[in-house]
Amino acid sequence: MARYTGPVCRQCRREGGKLYLKGDKCYTDKCPFSRRGYAPGQHGQGQARKKLSEYGIQLREKQKARRIYGILEKQFRSYFEKADRQKGITGENLLVLLERRLDNVVFRLGFGASRTQARQLVRHGHFTVNGHRVDIPSYLVKPGDVIQVKEKSKESPIIKEMAEGLATKTVPAWLEMSPQELSGKVLRYPTREEIDIPIQEHLIVELYSR
Ligand code: SF4
Repeated sequence: MARYTGPVCRQCRREGGKLYLKGDKCYTDKCPFSRRGYAPGQHGQGQARKKLSEYGIQLREKQKARRIYGILEKQFRSYFEKADRQKGITGENLLVLLERRLDNVVFRLGFGASRTQARQLVRHGHFTVNGHRVDIPSYLVKPGDVIQVKEKSKESPIIKEMAEGLATKTVPAWLEMSPQELSGKVLRYPTREEIDIPIQEHLIVELYSR
């Protein structure tokens, strides 16, 4: 599945807030948004942010969610349609679906400083799910699934580097991490309160329901 390949930090500046897409760099003073927190482009600086219409607010919220999870429009809409068909609150269903993506789970388990890096690790075939190699970042995990670093990949320098920091990482309560085994388990689906992204999902639902 295609992904956005343009300048990463520009997306934060466009959305007017930090989206934490670059891992450790986001927490340092090298973060471009900290230094240039205005919209990108020739006219970005010095211009007050325009007052957005209702549609504009909804659109920006959707774009922000897409950017956080690194998903293009077509796939994002298909997640929405799937969420809409499920029982319960559509907005929450949507966020749970996004959280269940394998690249997100790998990131949440601490393998990867950002979702982008986690996605690359998945793409390069470093992980198995229930013992089978899975290199599809959009693979949706379910309760009981065990995600593990492939035996051969444990010798990879990048995985070794990740492994060093795992013991100190905090994992959400719906996941369980074993730093010794370099594996994680999905205990259950996350609740809305456990999804710590700054998104008002009802705005996305309103946008797509127009
Ligand atoms: Fe956004 Fe992180 Fe880039 Fe800062 S460093 S602009 S938070 S992606």
